[in-house]
Amino acid sequence: MPTKKNGKTRRKATNAYTRYYDAQKSLPVRRESVYVLSKRQRQEQQEQQSRQIKLLPDCRTLAKGRPVRRPCNDVDHFMVVTEDHTQSRQQKNQLITGAPQLDAICYDVMREPLPPVHMEGTDIVPTIRGTRLSICAEHTHFPLVSRIARSMGFQQVPEHRLWNVQWTDCTPHHDLLRGMKRFQQINHFPGMVEICRKDLLSRNLNRMLKMYPGDYRIFPKTWLMPTDAYDVAIYASKHKRTYILKPYSSGRGRGIWITPDLKTVGKREKLICQTYIERPLLIDGFKFDLRVYTLITSVDPLRIFVYNEGLARFATHKYVAPTLGNSHNVYMHLTNYSLNRRNSNYNVGEGADGGSKRKLSAFNKWLLEHGYDVPEFWASVDDAIIKTIISAWPVLKHNYHVCFPRHDKIQGCFQLLGFDILVDWKLKPYILEVNHTPSLSADELVDKEVKRALIRDTLNLLTTALVDKEQIIRDDRIEHRTRLLRKVYQSKRGMPQTTPGSLPSPGREAGGCAMHMGQACSIGALAQQIAWEESHLGNYRRIMPPRDSERVNYYCKFYDQTKHQTLFANTESSRRREQLAHKAMQRHYRENQQQEVLKQQQRKQKDPLLTVSPAVLHSRRRKEEAEAQRCKHRAIIAREIYRQRELLLAPTCAKEHLGIWQSVLKIPKVEKRPRVRVVRCTSGVSRPLRRKQQRNVSRRVRQQRDIEHEAREDTLFVEQHAMKQSPRCQGGTSQQSVAKNRSRSQTPICRSMDEWAPGTISDGEQQEHSTWLLERTKQLNGSNLREMIFSKMYQQGHLTKNDIKRFPDLLFHMLSTGVPTVDNL
Ligand code: ADP
Repeated sequence: MPTKKNGKTRRKATNAYTRYYDAQKSLPVRRESVYVLSKRQRQEQQEQQSRQIKLLPDCRTLAKGRPVRRPCNDVDHFMVVTEDHTQSRQQKNQLITGAPQLDAICYDVMREPLPPVHMEGTDIVPTIRGTRLSICAEHTHFPLVSRIARSMGFQQVPEHRLWNVQWTDCTPHHDLLRGMKRFQQINHFPGMVEICRKDLLSRNLNRMLKMYPGDYRIFPKTWLMPTDAYDVAIYASKHKRTYILKPYSSGRGRGIWITPDLKTVGKREKLICQTYIERPLLIDGFKFDLRVYTLITSVDPLRIFVYNEGLARFATHKYVAPTLGNSHNVYMHLTNYSLNRRNSNYNVGEGADGGSKRKLSAFNKWLLEHGYDVPEFWASVDDAIIKTIISAWPVLKHNYHVCFPRHDKIQGCFQLLGFDILVDWKLKPYILEVNHTPSLSADELVDKEVKRALIRDTLNLLTTALVDKEQIIRDDRIEHRTRLLRKVYQSKRGMPQTTPGSLPSPGREAGGCAMHMGQACSIGALAQQIAWEESHLGNYRRIMPPRDSERVNYYCKFYDQTKHQTLFANTESSRRREQLAHKAMQRHYRENQQQEVLKQQQRKQKDPLLTVSPAVLHSRRRKEEAEAQRCKHRAIIAREIYRQRELLLAPTCAKEHLGIWQSVLKIPKVEKRPRVRVVRCTSGVSRPLRRKQQRNVSRRVRQQRDIEHEAREDTLFVEQHAMKQSPRCQGGTSQQSVAKNRSRSQTPICRSMDEWAPGTISDGEQQEHSTWLLERTKQLNGSNLREMIFSKMYQQGHLTKNDIKRFPDLLFHMLSTGVPTVDNL
């Protein structure tokens, strides 16, 4: 918090920015800026040169496509790093006036490395204005961090206070990142998981390998199971190799196993499958891997530092190439400290030349002693580290700008990564894993020696001290108040409200830099950062941007990765699989269609009716169905009648008493009986079953009632018609009435329509009509019409249960006398 001593005038005089600009000018080391041209611009440049057009001297003239070193006599100039966003257009123009063809990819390259300004121990108290910086180390379980920070003068504060630095073991939540103040820094970059999880790392590296096959051989061949199971099977069929299988996101050697036979891997297991490096570099017969500590201080521009000290972690069982007998021996094949410390062979050495954990300096010494080229080896390690980080660079850059749109003074994040590197017998480094929270526990002396210095140099390198915390808090407050007042003013005046970003904030004005979304720190702030970092390297070495301009050019191409392919594009194998599946589906569809066509043709050949129009076919089919239905119902009804008959004919006491039984038994059987299946009402049939049958029958009968009704009407009509024509029907009438009928039917009805005219009905005609009606009624009454209809219905199968119930006498009569015909009625 600001003290009262810090008066306004004093604050102005000690403004961080002013002081640092001044300080940079007075730096003892000369530096120069090197502009790096992209290929396109190089060509343009060459064309220009051929046309003898010279660039302005301001623009660091280039010759033969190579950067030319400026005579180091004038003012220090800092960097413009990436192509698009480190500065406003105005600033850009100021820097590269008259050279629009320059890509503005420019790195600050030191001519001579700075003399180490790092001071040993705890005497470095990073303050700018006498105020102490604060650190929140609540969420780390490494006490070494807070201990070192305290010894460096950092104040320990809880999370809810306005800390300058937060050191945490877990990935911070987006809300925490977005809510951070402009002077705060946290030790994780959002999106670093892209290289810190094994599956994502292998996916990113595989993607880069595909794009830059010659450059990205920095990791063992890796496949993601089960997605790439097909690819690895093909590879395994061609190459006899041993494979190491690891779970996607576990650590400390958990769940890792080695196998030469991939058939032992479950088909649905989510694993990383890697070719096992069978010939690692051995020291004293032991396998080892290197823990290389890497610090990223900024992602846009990318600035990477590698710590010169680190750890070599040894296996505790002498190495033998994997065989079926020894592949399960984790102390031989895995170099994890957490595994090997459990082995009784674990050697707690002094950290120098012996022991299962050694310093990198001891390893370097061993290399020198054995005639290896140490600088070349470390150059290849640096190269592998840079390439690994660049593979996630688009995500890191994007996430950073999303989470820290307002961090214009210092970087919002830094990250200390632990690279696990395996070295093969040819001294080629392979990236195995990247740890986003490398262990900072000091179990052994060697740990203490390495990690204490590491934490101290890391905190020292951070630009936390470059920012004026109080000034920022004050600016933010003013900005907030202005915004509120503006809103009130606008609402009073009835003016449309402006968006918060539309007017320059006082903070920005004070900082003297325009800042937009997607833009990193201002050039001034970057310049300060670089100056600070270069002068506080400690035991770190900067690997990105590289000191060699040729290397700068070399890495530039990897920044274009998103142009070649979308970042989250699938792997080659998955896309291939998709294509194959698509093709297989198409083939299947085509075959189905062909089969369908063939079947139709065959059906047509067999059944010529298929050539008839479908409407006709449909109607035919319906007719057939209706007929079948009718047959079925007729059969049901017939069956019911038969059953009723059986019941009626069954000998009962009552019947015997009435004398019916005897007479019924003598009845000759009806010859033409409908062919039905007999459902016997025997005592053998269980009662529920019988009921069910009855229910079924009555349901069917009910469904057919309408049809029967129609059928009955039809029969009636037919019978009436038949009766008129039947001689027997007419037999009962007198000759006279017949004659009268004939004459009646002949005279008035057969009159031609032409002759006919409406007239009055005479009495004679009236009488004649009533006589006719009487005679007709008599005739009908005497014609046993009911019996006839009943018997006809019985014959045709239209008789319902209801009919039987209503006219039991008719049925009994019919059954006792046989089915009557029209003649015998
Ligand atoms: P973890 O995260 O569980 O430590 P690593 O990927 O770091 O998993 O592997 C653990 C150990 O297994 C390494 O220290 C190394 O000794 C060994 N190892 C891993 N991958 C390979 C490989 N491809 N070839 C040879 N050894 C390997």
